[in-house]
Amino acid sequence: MVEPSTSPLLGLDREEIAALVSEVGAPSYRAKQIMDAVYRQRVEDLEEISTLPREFRERLAQSGVTVGAARIEKKFVSQDGTVRYLIAFADGQSVETVWMPEGDGGEAGDGSEAGDLAERFAENPTSDTSRAKALSEENEPIAALKRYATQKRTTRDRTSQNGASQNQGRASSGRSTICISSQVGCAVDCQFCLTALLGVKRNLTAGEIVGQVCAVLKDQKVSPPEDRINLVFMGMGEPFLNYENFVKAARLLVEGVGIAERRMTVSTAGIVPRIHDFGGESIRPKLAISLNAPNDALRTRLMPLNKKWTLEMLMAAAREFPLRTREWITFEYVLLGGVNDTPENARETAELLRGLRCKVNLIALNPGPGIDFTTPSAERVAAFQNILREAGIPAFVRRPRGRDIYAACGQLKRTVEVATLPEPQLQSISPATEG
Ligand code: SF4
Repeated sequence: MVEPSTSPLLGLDREEIAALVSEVGAPSYRAKQIMDAVYRQRVEDLEEISTLPREFRERLAQSGVTVGAARIEKKFVSQDGTVRYLIAFADGQSVETVWMPEGDGGEAGDGSEAGDLAERFAENPTSDTSRAKALSEENEPIAALKRYATQKRTTRDRTSQNGASQNQGRASSGRSTICISSQVGCAVDCQFCLTALLGVKRNLTAGEIVGQVCAVLKDQKVSPPEDRINLVFMGMGEPFLNYENFVKAARLLVEGVGIAERRMTVSTAGIVPRIHDFGGESIRPKLAISLNAPNDALRTRLMPLNKKWTLEMLMAAAREFPLRTREWITFEYVLLGGVNDTPENARETAELLRGLRCKVNLIALNPGPGIDFTTPSAERVAAFQNILREAGIPAFVRRPRGRDIYAACGQLKRTVEVATLPEPQLQSISPATEG
């Protein structure tokens, strides 16, 4: 007998839904109808599954089966278009999920068009004169690539007779990115991160991870694969400390929701044994590693987990990681003013990464209450970036998105607090700017 409290459809894979269908005595083709309804149509109630006979829906409901859709409890919209969702689950716990309508500038290498161009350019800088020109116009490849990609898309759209009508009623989603959470809170305790202040409350189930994506897609009226959506597992929590659920969620997002694995990136603080496991998964998003310091003393200070999994162990795992063709590892580096942003730190980072097929995303600290670090100046960030580039390492400055609503990297704190901040405080937080 199916247990009501443990039977949300969201989170079940094809085989599990087939078993459920068989258990209630329905023909096997009903499994595909349920799979489509839950993951493609993103229904919120059994009653909405119009492909199923009423009698079968009633039988499912009597067995305690629910859709298990995640519920959007609150929604904060930034000046820059970023949306931070507070998403609630059946037990009252909630997490944050962020929608970035134009990505966050850190997509290079994540499968998006700008990322694809950046990779191709880095591999063969003379292969396309337009791209080369775009990159040489100014020292800001992402902005240049974005323009190039937009031009390319405009040309393509003009030549497509059906393009406009197909996309009617949809929000613009040229390279939108959803940042999803994997745990309620986080146990890793990175010293520059607001989420760390929560501690960890619990792991999310696979259904709750996928449910965030379904809820945001529905709210934004977009639908992959027709709409190009990138996913980053970089919200609250350390995905590799909730490994089984994360891996299952990634599979459901590919097989159910229809998002290609090359459009997903998972970020880890450096759970070394899981990096090895992850390399062997049959469905595997891209890997990002949160680095933040080029030596053990500094990294342990900023990320206490470095005591257990040292830089030597982390870099060994990165070097052994089985990359696919044209795939790179991303290293994220949060720059903290006067702490890890010196030219010497940059040179040490370049040395540490030498020979690895990788790129670096630089993130100037996003400020928040309770965080004792400062944001480095734009000059300091540019100097760090230049040292890496001169050493042959592609380095990109991620544009902070949604700082004014606490949606930027390291700012997710399951905050309802921000909703109650007086307006002047909200306004005093710098609005997002180009990095
Ligand atoms: S940066 Fe990521 S891993 Fe570190 S405490 Fe924050 S949520 Fe956890």
